[in-house]
Amino acid sequence: MLSPAVLQLAKNLGANLSERDAHASYAFDGQTIATHKRRYLDDDLYEIVPLTDHDILHELGHWVMAEECQRDLPEFGLALGVAIAAYGPPGGEFLDLYGNIRPNVYQGAFEGVVDKGEQDIQEQGAQLLSSYWGRSLGISADMASDPDFFRDWNHYDLHKTKEANQYGWLGNRMIAMQRLMRMDIIHV
Ligand SMILES: [Zn+2]
Repeated sequence: MLSPAVLQLAKNLGANLSERDAHASYAFDGQTIATHKRRYLDDDLYEIVPLTDHDILHELGHWVMAEECQRDLPEFGLALGVAIAAYGPPGGEFLDLYGNIRPNVYQGAFEGVVDKGEQDIQEQGAQLLSSYWGRSLGISADMASDPDFFRDWNHYDLHKTKEANQYGWLGNRMIAMQRLMRMDIIHV
Protein backbone atom coordinates (compact mmCIF):
# COMPACT_ATOMS: atom_id res chain seq x y z
CA MET A 1 0.00 0.00 0.00
CA LEU A 2 1.23 3.42 -0.90
CA SER A 3 1.50 5.98 1.87
CA PRO A 4 -1.41 8.47 2.04
CA ALA A 5 1.24 11.23 2.11
CA VAL A 6 2.57 10.09 -1.29
CA LEU A 7 -0.95 9.90 -2.74
CA GLN A 8 -1.65 13.42 -1.46
CA LEU A 9 1.62 14.71 -2.92
CA ALA A 10 0.73 13.27 -6.34
CA LYS A 11 -2.64 14.97 -6.12
CA ASN A 12 -1.07 18.30 -5.17
CA LEU A 13 1.29 18.04 -8.14
CA GLY A 14 -1.55 17.20 -10.54
CA ALA A 15 -0.01 13.81 -11.40
CA ASN A 16 -2.26 10.77 -11.85
CA LEU A 17 -1.46 7.25 -10.69
CA SER A 18 -3.04 4.09 -12.07
CA GLU A 19 -3.13 0.54 -10.79
CA ARG A 20 -1.39 -1.13 -13.71
CA ASP A 21 1.74 -3.14 -14.51
CA ALA A 22 4.54 -0.85 -15.70
CA HIS A 23 6.00 -3.68 -17.79
CA ALA A 24 2.80 -4.00 -19.80
CA SER A 25 3.44 -0.50 -21.14
CA TYR A 26 5.53 2.09 -19.32
CA ALA A 27 6.22 3.35 -15.82
CA PHE A 28 4.82 6.67 -17.04
CA ASP A 29 2.71 6.13 -20.15
CA GLY A 30 2.17 9.79 -20.98
CA GLN A 31 -0.91 10.00 -18.77
CA THR A 32 -0.44 8.08 -15.56
CA ILE A 33 2.27 6.65 -13.33
CA ALA A 34 1.98 2.87 -12.89
CA THR A 35 1.74 1.54 -9.33
CA HIS A 36 2.89 -2.02 -10.08
CA LYS A 37 5.64 -3.81 -11.97
CA ARG A 38 6.86 -7.33 -12.75
CA ARG A 39 9.52 -9.10 -10.78
CA TYR A 40 11.06 -11.78 -12.95
CA LEU A 41 11.74 -15.06 -11.20
CA ASP A 42 12.98 -16.66 -14.40
CA ASP A 43 13.19 -15.71 -18.09
CA ASP A 44 9.44 -15.63 -18.53
CA LEU A 45 8.16 -16.38 -15.06
CA TYR A 46 7.22 -13.31 -13.09
CA GLU A 47 5.04 -12.00 -10.34
CA ILE A 48 3.32 -8.61 -10.19
CA VAL A 49 4.60 -6.57 -7.27
CA PRO A 50 3.56 -3.13 -6.03
CA LEU A 51 5.95 -0.26 -6.56
CA THR A 52 7.18 1.32 -3.34
CA ASP A 53 6.59 4.84 -2.07
CA HIS A 54 10.15 5.66 -3.14
CA ASP A 55 9.49 4.42 -6.69
CA ILE A 56 6.45 6.69 -6.93
CA LEU A 57 8.36 9.64 -5.42
CA HIS A 58 11.04 9.15 -8.08
CA GLU A 59 8.46 9.28 -10.88
CA LEU A 60 6.85 12.35 -9.30
CA GLY A 61 10.33 13.88 -9.29
CA HIS A 62 10.52 13.28 -13.06
CA TRP A 63 7.05 14.83 -13.39
CA VAL A 64 8.27 18.01 -11.65
CA MET A 65 11.55 18.16 -13.62
CA ALA A 66 9.92 17.47 -17.01
CA GLU A 67 9.32 20.28 -19.43
CA GLU A 68 5.73 20.83 -20.56
CA CYS A 69 6.35 19.03 -23.88
CA GLN A 70 7.52 15.88 -22.03
CA ARG A 71 4.48 15.43 -19.84
CA ASP A 72 2.38 13.56 -22.37
CA LEU A 73 5.16 11.26 -23.63
CA PRO A 74 5.99 7.73 -22.42
CA GLU A 75 8.82 7.83 -19.86
CA PHE A 76 8.74 11.62 -20.25
CA GLY A 77 10.47 11.28 -23.63
CA LEU A 78 13.78 10.41 -21.97
CA ALA A 79 16.37 8.57 -24.04
CA LEU A 80 17.20 4.92 -23.74
CA GLY A 81 20.94 5.53 -24.03
CA VAL A 82 21.04 7.88 -21.09
CA ALA A 83 18.82 5.55 -19.11
CA ILE A 84 21.21 2.64 -19.58
CA ALA A 85 24.24 4.73 -18.67
CA ALA A 86 22.46 6.11 -15.63
CA TYR A 87 21.02 2.77 -14.56
CA GLY A 88 23.88 0.51 -15.51
CA PRO A 89 23.55 -2.12 -12.79
CA PRO A 90 21.37 -5.10 -13.74
CA GLY A 91 18.23 -5.40 -11.64
CA GLY A 92 17.63 -1.68 -11.81
CA GLU A 93 14.84 0.35 -13.29
CA PHE A 94 15.81 -0.24 -16.91
CA LEU A 95 17.75 -3.51 -16.96
CA ASP A 96 16.57 -6.83 -15.62
CA LEU A 97 18.70 -9.08 -13.45
CA TYR A 98 20.29 -10.59 -16.55
CA GLY A 99 21.22 -7.19 -17.97
CA ASN A 100 18.54 -7.22 -20.65
CA ILE A 101 16.59 -4.05 -21.38
CA ARG A 102 13.28 -4.23 -19.57
CA PRO A 103 10.25 -4.48 -21.84
CA ASN A 104 8.76 -1.32 -20.36
CA VAL A 105 11.69 0.83 -21.44
CA TYR A 106 10.75 3.30 -24.11
CA GLN A 107 12.18 1.39 -27.10
CA GLY A 108 11.87 4.23 -29.58
CA ALA A 109 13.55 6.89 -27.52
CA PHE A 110 17.19 6.63 -28.45
CA GLU A 111 17.56 10.38 -28.57
CA GLY A 112 14.89 11.79 -26.33
CA VAL A 113 13.00 15.03 -26.81
CA VAL A 114 15.42 17.11 -24.72
CA ASP A 115 19.21 16.95 -25.01
CA LYS A 116 21.32 14.49 -23.02
CA GLY A 117 22.60 17.08 -20.55
CA GLU A 118 19.06 18.17 -19.78
CA GLN A 119 17.96 14.55 -19.40
CA ASP A 120 20.67 13.94 -16.85
CA ILE A 121 19.77 17.12 -14.96
CA GLN A 122 16.19 15.83 -14.81
CA GLU A 123 17.31 12.41 -13.55
CA GLN A 124 19.50 14.01 -10.88
CA GLY A 125 16.56 16.23 -9.93
CA ALA A 126 14.24 13.22 -9.62
CA GLN A 127 16.77 11.58 -7.30
CA LEU A 128 17.22 14.71 -5.20
CA LEU A 129 13.49 15.28 -4.96
CA SER A 130 12.59 11.72 -3.97
CA SER A 131 15.15 11.92 -1.18
CA TYR A 132 13.94 15.38 -0.08
CA TRP A 133 10.29 14.32 -0.06
CA GLY A 134 11.11 10.92 1.45
CA ARG A 135 12.84 12.53 4.41
CA SER A 136 10.19 15.17 5.02
CA LEU A 137 7.29 12.70 4.70
CA GLY A 138 9.01 9.94 6.68
CA ILE A 139 8.96 7.51 3.75
CA SER A 140 11.21 4.44 3.43
CA ALA A 141 14.03 4.55 0.85
CA ASP A 142 13.24 0.98 -0.24
CA MET A 143 12.78 0.44 -4.00
CA ALA A 144 10.89 -2.44 -5.62
CA SER A 145 13.68 -3.07 -8.15
CA ASP A 146 16.22 -3.74 -5.41
CA PRO A 147 14.44 -4.42 -2.11
CA ASP A 148 16.47 -3.91 1.06
CA PHE A 149 19.37 -2.32 -0.84
CA PHE A 150 19.04 1.25 0.40
CA ARG A 151 19.27 1.32 4.20
CA ASP A 152 18.01 4.91 4.49
CA TRP A 153 18.05 8.22 2.63
CA ASN A 154 21.63 9.00 3.68
CA HIS A 155 22.72 5.72 2.13
CA TYR A 156 20.68 6.50 -1.01
CA ASP A 157 22.13 10.02 -1.36
CA LEU A 158 25.66 8.75 -0.86
CA HIS A 159 25.17 5.97 -3.43
CA LYS A 160 23.68 8.36 -6.02
CA THR A 161 26.33 11.04 -5.43
CA LYS A 162 29.07 8.44 -5.94
CA GLU A 163 27.34 7.26 -9.11
CA ALA A 164 27.08 10.83 -10.43
CA ASN A 165 30.75 11.36 -9.63
CA GLN A 166 31.68 8.16 -11.44
CA TYR A 167 29.86 9.25 -14.61
CA GLY A 168 31.01 12.89 -14.40
CA TRP A 169 27.56 14.23 -13.59
CA LEU A 170 28.14 16.00 -10.29
CA GLY A 171 27.83 19.34 -12.10
CA ASN A 172 24.39 18.33 -13.36
CA ARG A 173 23.43 17.31 -9.84
CA MET A 174 24.32 20.83 -8.66
CA ILE A 175 22.34 22.41 -11.51
CA ALA A 176 19.33 20.23 -10.62
CA MET A 177 19.56 21.28 -6.97
CA GLN A 178 19.80 24.97 -7.89
CA ARG A 179 16.81 24.62 -10.23
CA LEU A 180 14.69 22.96 -7.52
CA MET A 181 15.60 25.72 -5.06
CA ARG A 182 14.70 28.40 -7.63
CA MET A 183 11.40 26.62 -8.28
CA ASP A 184 10.82 26.92 -4.53
CA ILE A 185 10.37 23.16 -4.22
CA ILE A 186 13.48 22.34 -2.21
CA HIS A 187 14.27 24.58 0.77
CA VAL A 188 17.58 24.32 2.56
ZN1 LIG B 1 14.67 8.28 -13.17
